[in-house]
Amino acid sequence: MIIVTGGAGYVGSHCVKELLKRGYEVGVVDNLCTGHRASVGKDARFFEGDIRDGEFMTKVFKESGAEAVIHFAACSLVGESMTDPLKYYNNNVHGTEVLLSSMLRADVDKIIFSSTAAVYGEAQTDMITEDIPKEPTNTYGETKLSMEKMMKWCDKAYGMRHVALRYFNVAGADPEGTIGEDHSPETHLIPIILQVPLKKREKLSIFGDDYPTPDGTCIRDYVHVCDLARAHAMALEHLIGGGKSDAFNLASGGGYSVKEMVEAAREVTGHPIPAEIQPRRAGDPARLVANASKVANALGFKPEKTSVKEIIADAWRWHSSHPNGFGV
Ligand code: UDP
Repeated sequence: MIIVTGGAGYVGSHCVKELLKRGYEVGVVDNLCTGHRASVGKDARFFEGDIRDGEFMTKVFKESGAEAVIHFAACSLVGESMTDPLKYYNNNVHGTEVLLSSMLRADVDKIIFSSTAAVYGEAQTDMITEDIPKEPTNTYGETKLSMEKMMKWCDKAYGMRHVALRYFNVAGADPEGTIGEDHSPETHLIPIILQVPLKKREKLSIFGDDYPTPDGTCIRDYVHVCDLARAHAMALEHLIGGGKSDAFNLASGGGYSVKEMVEAAREVTGHPIPAEIQPRRAGDPARLVANASKVANALGFKPEKTSVKEIIADAWRWHSSHPNGFGV
């Protein structure tokens, strides 16, 4: 069985669906703090609990006969990580330490985990490769970097292999329209933009238009959540096949500014989506765009849904059919 921590969350639930499609037995561990029980279909086994509870995790591993772990359970909001850093150290760093200790006790020696482009900080290059210096500008990125390093030393000491997948900006939803993004509070750009045509907010706030970019707004690399889910399955197959520990960027490899994203959403939804400029948000780097060739060469992974209009259209299908997310 493959244990997916945080499998009731946004990326986790899409990954569970992909693993089931490929014929894996899947067990989801989630404390449902931010995840949704309804996002996990009945084909996966559900273990409700916290990764910081070592006794619980050891029991899950032993009971399920776990072969490998895909680890999503973490706090992931840049803004919150700047105002409540200890929450991030506790859930992300301490939580991972307890998880790895439980894996060790139960002889589970493979882990795929969600890292982030935020480990790079304010990159001095146009196309970020995995080997550039890592100087996070926010606590969220710092804790993810600590998790990567913890896993590196665990490989050296215990032979526990890992793949760190450094996500750029994940967006979109499964095209079947049954699972999608549902965060409370919502902070991510695409769902927030779509709240305007959904009449949940009057206008969008653009955080800063004085960045050193062509239109002054931040540039990000948006990757479809279904492509991301596929990459996790391929990373798992790499480790099962005896592949070595590694870290890969996961992205589409193209950069879009906040203003360009708003324009694309206007075209997809046919709504004018008014926007106003607000001050910068703490911790935001100006530009994060990936060179995604390493994962293509090593795992044969290439994103398929790279058009931002398609990404927004899939997100729009989910949000417009589930205006209250998984809530009734
Ligand atoms: N952003 C914005 N208005 C919003 C939400 C986000 O202008 O209401 C900007 C944010 O400052 C960043 C980009 O959109 O430059 C992407 O932010 P998001 O939170 O989606 O992802 P992040 O890059 O922080 O992981």
